Amino acid sequence: MSRIAAVLIPMPLPEAFDYAEPEGMALSVGDQVRVPLGPRDVRGVVMALREAAGGNRPLKPVSERLDEPPLPPGTLAFVQWAGRYAADLPGAPLAIALRGARAPPPRPMRLLRAPGVAPARATPARARVLEVLPDTGLSGADLSRAAGVSAGVVKSLLDEGVLSVEFAVESRSFGRHEPALPGAELNASQAAAAAELGGMVRATGFQVALLDGVTGSGKTEVYLEAVAAALAAGPEGQALILLPELALPQAVIARVAGRFGAEPGEWHSGVAPPARRRVWEGVASGDCQIVVGARSALFLPFRNLRLIVVDEEHDGSFKQEEGFIYHARDLAVARGRIEGAPVVLASATPSLESLRNAETGRYRWLRLAARHGSARMPDIDLIDLRETPPETGRWLSPPLVTAMAETWARGEQSLLFLNRRGYAPLVLCKACGERLRAPDSDTWLVEHRYTGRLVCHLTGFSMPKPAACPHCGAKDSLTAIGPGVERLEEEARGLFPDARIAVFSSDTVFDAREARRMVQTMAQGEIDILVATQAAAKGHNFPNLTLVGVVDADLGLRGGDLRAGERTYQLLAQATGRAGRRDRPGRALIQTYAPEHPVMQALKAQDRDAFVAAEMAEREAAGLPPFGRLAAAILSGPDDFQLEAFARTMAEAAPNAQGVIVYGPADAPLGLVRGRRRKRFLVQAGREGDLSAYMAAWRARVRPPGAIRVTLDIDPYSFL
Ligand code: ADP
Repeated sequence: MSRIAAVLIPMPLPEAFDYAEPEGMALSVGDQVRVPLGPRDVRGVVMALREAAGGNRPLKPVSERLDEPPLPPGTLAFVQWAGRYAADLPGAPLAIALRGARAPPPRPMRLLRAPGVAPARATPARARVLEVLPDTGLSGADLSRAAGVSAGVVKSLLDEGVLSVEFAVESRSFGRHEPALPGAELNASQAAAAAELGGMVRATGFQVALLDGVTGSGKTEVYLEAVAAALAAGPEGQALILLPELALPQAVIARVAGRFGAEPGEWHSGVAPPARRRVWEGVASGDCQIVVGARSALFLPFRNLRLIVVDEEHDGSFKQEEGFIYHARDLAVARGRIEGAPVVLASATPSLESLRNAETGRYRWLRLAARHGSARMPDIDLIDLRETPPETGRWLSPPLVTAMAETWARGEQSLLFLNRRGYAPLVLCKACGERLRAPDSDTWLVEHRYTGRLVCHLTGFSMPKPAACPHCGAKDSLTAIGPGVERLEEEARGLFPDARIAVFSSDTVFDAREARRMVQTMAQGEIDILVATQAAAKGHNFPNLTLVGVVDADLGLRGGDLRAGERTYQLLAQATGRAGRRDRPGRALIQTYAPEHPVMQALKAQDRDAFVAAEMAEREAAGLPPFGRLAAAILSGPDDFQLEAFARTMAEAAPNAQGVIVYGPADAPLGLVRGRRRKRFLVQAGREGDLSAYMAAWRARVRPPGAIRVTLDIDPYSFL
C-alpha cells in the first residue's frame, strides 16, 4: 500500500501539497523533505501521511528525505495555529520555524597540518602557509591572512590533504544546566511568588501567571526559580525566555549562565546564521535546554518545552509588524496551551490585555510591591514647561539643569531620556518654509549630525544633508527643528563641559558587544550623564544612577492611537524606574506641557492602579481591547486610481456577521510608503467573535490585481 504525504512548503502558498511517498522512504510526520515544485526542488515539512486510495491521479514523488531533525508535533501544531490566527498562509509561520534549520552549518574551527602528507607541488606561497601554521591550527581566513596568500592557496592544500580540518565538535554542544545550584536568597514576597510558579511548573499543564512587580523588585530572580523547576521537571525539560528585541539579552544571559552554570541558547537578529543553526539543532535534539531570545524564538522546534517566560510582556516590540504579522505575547500563550506548559508574563507595567486577564481570574496574578532590599522607588516630580520653560533653542528647563548639577556635584549619575534618535526630528527651510520629506514616503527626514545625513526612520532611506534647500535653492537656509538625543548631548556638553557624557541609542550602540561595553562603562560610573532613547530605558541596573530626566513626556501622546496613554505610562515608568537602584534614593523629573494629564498625574503619584482603572473604563465604554477585538486590513499599491477602485470592491465584499463592524476604507495616516499608496479598513468585534476567521473569509472573497497587496493585521498595535 502506498502513502501520500501532505507537505507544507515555507512559501506563500495556500495549503500543504500532496506527494507520493517513494518505496522504502519510511517518512514520519515532521520530517524535512525535498519535493518538486514547478521546475525546482524545494524544502518542505511532512504535515500528515495517509494511505493512498485507489484511482487518484498520479502524484509526483517526494525527492528526498533530508538528514535533518524533524519538527516535533507541538511545533507543527503551533505553526498551523499561528497561521490560522494571523489569517495568513500557513507557509509564512513555517518559514520562521525553519529559519535556523536552513542557516549554513557552523564552519570548521581550524585547519591543522595533516601528518605525513607532503604538498604535491611546492610554491613559495604554499611553503609560507605551512611555515606560519602553528601546531594548534588556525581558521582558513586567519591562515591566509597570516601567510599573506589568497584563500585559494589554502584551499588547494586542503584539497590535496596536506591540511586537515578539525570541526569544533565540543563547542556545538550546550553545557548541561544545573537546576540545583543555589539561586539568590529570595525575600519573603519573592519566595512566595517563586513557590507559586514552581508549583505551576511541577503540576504540568497549561496555565498563565502574570508576574507583576515594580522595577527592581526582582522579577528576574523569581522567574529563574521557575526555570529551575522546569529543568528539574525531567532530564529533558526546556525553558524559553522571551525578551523584547530592543532590550539587551546579555544581562539576562549572564544571569542565566551564572544561575545554572552553562550558557543558554541565544536567539535574536544579532546572532549569526551558523550560531542560529547550532541553537536550532540543539533545541530540536534537546541538548539546548534554555533559550533566551527575541520573539521568533517562539517558533523553535522544542522537544519538551516546560515553561515560557515573556519578560517585559507589555513591550511593543513583541508585535511583529512586517511579513508574518503576530504578537509574540499572544502566541506564547498559544504555544503554552499546545505544549501543555505554563507561561509567565513579567512586567512592572503590564499591558491592559494581561491585567484584564488577571482581574478576571484567567491568569494567576503574582504581585511584588516593593524593590528588593533597601532600594526605594524614586521620587517623581513634574516640571511644568509652561511655568519654567527652557531658554529659546534649549530643551532642558532650569529645574532639571539644577538637579543635574546637584547630582553631578555628589558624584552621582544622571540619565536624560528622550525617545528620539538623531539630532533633530525635522529640517525646515527658513527661506521658503519647506519641510524636508522622504522622497517615497509620508515621513519627515530626521537630521543625524554624527553622520551628516538626513534619514527616514521608517524605511532607512538616507541622503547627505544638502547645502541648499532642494525646494527653493536658498543656501544655508536649512534649520534643525526640535531635539533628538544628539542635540541634547550638545546642550548637556555646553552646560557641563567637564562632565563625561555619552549617547545611548540604536545609532551609537549598534550591536550587542557595543551595548555591553556601554552598559559596563555606565555601571562602573565612568559616565556622568547618559543621554538615551528607549534602547537604554529598560532592564539595566545602574547602582550610581540617581537622577532620571524625561525631556519630552508628551511625545508619545501626540497624534495618539488607542494605546497612546498606556504606552506613554509604560515607557516613562520604565525610564524613571532606572533611578535609585541601591541604597541611594533616586529622583525623576518629568518635563511636560500637560501636567494635568492623567498619565502624568499617575506617574507622579506612582498610582498605576488608578490609571489602569480609568483606562479600562474608557476602553470598555468604547468596546476596544481588551473588551472588544480589532483587526485591520491594509491595502497598498503604486497607483492611486487602481487602489481606490479595489478598496471599493473590497468594501462591498465584506461579509455580514453579527457584531462585526467594518470601518473604512480610509487613507492611512502613513499614506505613502516606499512609493506605494496605502488605505486601511478597521474591523471591530466583541471579545468572543472569531475575527481571524472573519478576515480570512473576507480576503478569500476578493482577488486583488497583481500590483495591489492586502495585509491583514489581527489585534493591530499600529494604526498608521
Ligand atoms: P526586575 O526584573 O524586577 O526589575 P531584577 O530581578 O533585575 O528586578 O532585580 C533588581 C536588582 O536587585 C538586581 O540587581 C538583582 O540582582 C537584585 N536582586 C533582586 N532580588 C534579589 C535577591 N533576592 N537577592 C539579591 N539580589 C537581588
